Amino acid sequence: MGGRFCYRCGISEEEGGPLIDGLCQVCYRKENPVLLISDEINMEICQNCGSYRKRGVWVDPKSYNLEELIFEVAESALLEALEDSLGEKVKEFEIVSMEELGRVVDLPVGKAVAAFVPVRWHIGYFPAIVTYEVRVKARTHELQRELHDETKQVTVYVRQTVCPRCQKFLGGYFEAILQVRAEGRPLSEGERKAIGRLVEEKVDEIMRKDRMGFIQDTIEKEEGLDFYMGSTLSARKLAQAIRERFGGTISEAYELVGMDRQTSREVYRTSVSVRIPKFRKGDIVADREGNVYEVTGVGGKGISLRNLSTGREEHRDWKTAKREGIDEVEHEEGDAMVTSIGKDGVQIMDMENYRIYEVEKPPMELREGDVYRMVEVKGRKYFLSKKEISD
Ligand SMILES: [Zn+2]
Ligand SMILES: [Zn+2]
Repeated sequence: MGGRFCYRCGISEEEGGPLIDGLCQVCYRKENPVLLISDEINMEICQNCGSYRKRGVWVDPKSYNLEELIFEVAESALLEALEDSLGEKVKEFEIVSMEELGRVVDLPVGKAVAAFVPVRWHIGYFPAIVTYEVRVKARTHELQRELHDETKQVTVYVRQTVCPRCQKFLGGYFEAILQVRAEGRPLSEGERKAIGRLVEEKVDEIMRKDRMGFIQDTIEKEEGLDFYMGSTLSARKLAQAIRERFGGTISEAYELVGMDRQTSREVYRTSVSVRIPKFRKGDIVADREGNVYEVTGVGGKGISLRNLSTGREEHRDWKTAKREGIDEVEHEEGDAMVTSIGKDGVQIMDMENYRIYEVEKPPMELREGDVYRMVEVKGRKYFLSKKEISD
């Protein structure tokens, strides 16, 4: 009787077929394995920041817990190696659990399904070692009766290194200086704290995208704060965040710091300056017309004011405030007791010298006998607020 035989093991097509490329079913699978991943994978992790390379790019870990971190890094390395090792015949690839993989009995041609579990590991010291059992099922030919079903143990070695970013960071590198100042005065203690907090928050956010966005150093100066930044982009983003919160202006300057010997290009350092407005909540200001205001808020969009003659809350964007000449005004603050309230006027007694004054009725409720915070601008007295007893 005629018929065909497997050229590798000699089994007849009736028994071991259908033949694929002259091979019986078993020999076809043996000759065309899909799990070609090597037994050993070497991986590096930054001892300073925990980052590791994913497809050649340094990324921050999801977890900083050492155990979770090692498994994260080892798994990432395993997955990458696995994906890269599946032959050309695999077009589609999916990771499932071992249980799910056990239930897979059929697959379309070109598809592989893989699962892995760690079977042995030590992570207390470096190199950390994690050994995985990897199992893959796949179909690479339409005549296959049974799927490829291959299992292998793969060991991942995780060693310590210092990533390029941390090398620069630890070497004292910085690319830009962010200077935070206030217009015409030093930064207040409260502003320094608030800016410090804002910068910290924002840097965390920036570093998720810009790994060089670190703060190398923070210098407290009499007039303000200097942040030494790993990237100019990060310095700019921080300046914008500060302006958004506090208002002000941003400017940049470049300083020639040397020459790159390899490229013979000039190397510049950027200074990004953000200058927040001189006004603060509680300041007394006046415009060109002589209207007197108490500053009730300062922000990125402008300044909030309470007109002390009308009691009205008003808002000016920074441009308008500048146009109207809103600026600090010489003034004196003090306390006064309302001694009598007339139809149009109010009689008050200065709590410092006990002198009696007659003033215009203010746009606020007054009560005889109560003490009020007052401010005097160009000889005119304005009511600020009722003085709390505890003051
Ligand atoms: Zn055979
Ligand atoms: Zn690092």
